[in-house]
Amino acid sequence: MPADLTFRNVTVVDGSGSPGVSADVAVTDGRISAVGEAGAGAREVDGRGMVLCPGFVDTHSHDDGAFIRYPGMEFKLAQGVTSEVSGNCGFSTMPNEPGRTYMGGDISGPGSNWTDLESYFAACMERGPAINNAMLVGHNRVRAHVVGLDKRLASAGELSEMRGHVARAMEQGAVGFSTGLIYEPGRYSDTAELVALASECRPFAGLYATHMRNEGDKLLEAVEEARLVAREAGIGLHISHHKSAGKRNWGRVKDSLAMVDAANAAGEDITLDVYPYTAGSGPMWQYVNLDRIDLEWAENVMIASCPDSHEFEGKMLPEIATRQEWSLEETVREIVTSPRGKEVICIQFIIEEADIETNLRHPKMLIGSDGIPELRGRPHPRLFGTMPRILGRYVRERGVLSLEEAIKRMTSQSCERFGLAERGLVKPGYWADLVLFDPATVRDVATYQDPNQEPVGIAMVVVNGQVAYEDGRHTGVAAGRMLRYRRAD
Ligand SMILES: [Zn+2]
Repeated sequence: MPADLTFRNVTVVDGSGSPGVSADVAVTDGRISAVGEAGAGAREVDGRGMVLCPGFVDTHSHDDGAFIRYPGMEFKLAQGVTSEVSGNCGFSTMPNEPGRTYMGGDISGPGSNWTDLESYFAACMERGPAINNAMLVGHNRVRAHVVGLDKRLASAGELSEMRGHVARAMEQGAVGFSTGLIYEPGRYSDTAELVALASECRPFAGLYATHMRNEGDKLLEAVEEARLVAREAGIGLHISHHKSAGKRNWGRVKDSLAMVDAANAAGEDITLDVYPYTAGSGPMWQYVNLDRIDLEWAENVMIASCPDSHEFEGKMLPEIATRQEWSLEETVREIVTSPRGKEVICIQFIIEEADIETNLRHPKMLIGSDGIPELRGRPHPRLFGTMPRILGRYVRERGVLSLEEAIKRMTSQSCERFGLAERGLVKPGYWADLVLFDPATVRDVATYQDPNQEPVGIAMVVVNGQVAYEDGRHTGVAAGRMLRYRRAD
C-alpha cells in the first residue's frame, strides 16, 4: 500500500526543538506513517529547500463565530495554522440560549441554535471546518448567561448555576476556563467568584487562561490575582497576550516575567502567550469610560471596523477629529455612542517593540494571534500575519529565537499545554497536521492599512492528512476537527 502523500528532500523540524534533519515524510490515513525513509506515495511532493514542520497552533483566538461564518478559515490556514484555541478573554459562544443577544460587540460572534459545547461543536462540524478547534469556556459569557450585565457580585444561587455551566463545558472537552477581567461583565466579579468557577476545571486538570484585570499600571497586582486563582483552584495558569501597556509602563514585562519565573521555580505552573505586534485590538466601548475619557489613550487609537461610519476605518482618532472638526473627546463619544457603537472594534498602539522581544525570549511564551475575525472592516493585521511574522521578522531578521525553538513553541509546546493529543510533532502515529514553508522567504504581508492579505512563503498546509492549502490556493478540503482536551479521538 503506498502512502497517501510523501514529502521528499525536506528539512524536517519536528517540533521537539531538535535541529532540523533532512528526511522524507509519509502520510497515510490522516496520520504520519514514516519519518526518515518513506516508501512511494500516491502523491509525491519534492520539498527541496523547504522546511516541513507540524502545523502551527494559534493559542489565542476569537474564532468561535468564525467557524460558523468562515468555515474555510482562510486567514488562519494560509499562515500554517492547523489548530487553534478559541473562547479566549472570557468570550465564548457557549453556554448559549438560542435567539438571545448577550452583549454588544461580543467578539465570540453571534450564537445560533446550540446550547453547550457539544452542540456548538456539532454546528461547526456541519459547516465543514478547514482547521481544528479547541475551546475555553468564557467567564464573561457564563456570567452574562446567568447574571446578565448587572454591576454586582453574583448571589450564591447564581454562582452555583455558573459553576454548573463551567463543569458541563469541561465534561464535554473544553480545555479550561477563560476570563477577560477588564471587560463587562467579568469586571464585576471578585476573586472568590473566579476561584469558585476555575475550581470546576480541577477534576479535568484544565487551565485557567486569563486576560488579567490590569495590563498597565497594576500589571503586577493582576499577576498576583491570576496566580491566586490558579493556586486556590489547583490548576495551571495561562496568562493571555502578556504585555505592559501604556508608555509609562513600557519595560515592565521584565518584572512580571521575573514573578512568573519565581512562581514556577516554587512549583506553580504558569505559561503565557503573546502576539508579535505593538498594538492591541478589541471592542472600543469596553475600553472607554464616558465620564472620564482618557485622551492619552485616544491619541493612539485607530478604528478597525465601524458599521455606522465605514469611512473611519483605518484612521487614527486624531485624524478623524480633525476631519470632522470634533475635539478628540467628542470623537470618542460620537463613535462609541453611535447606534451600532458597541460593534466598533478599535486598534490601540500601546505596546513597546522591545517588550515583544523580551516576551518572545521567555521559554514559557507561546504564540497567539488574538485576531478578531471582522473581515468587513480593517482588522488588526495579526489576524492574517501572526505566525509568518514570528518566522520572518523575529526568527530570520531579528534572530530573537532560533527556528527550532520558535517552531517548538508554536507546535508541541502549545499542544502539550492546551491538551491537543497526538499533535504537534512530526512523529509516526501522530495526526498529520503539517506545514511546508520556505525559511528564506516566509513573512507576513498584512498591514494596518491593508490587513486582509495572506502571507508569502507558506507552500503547503496539511490538516489531518489532507492538503488544505497549496501555493496560495485554498483547496476547499474540510478536514478540521473539534478537539477535546487531552482526548486523542
Ligand atoms: Zn484579551
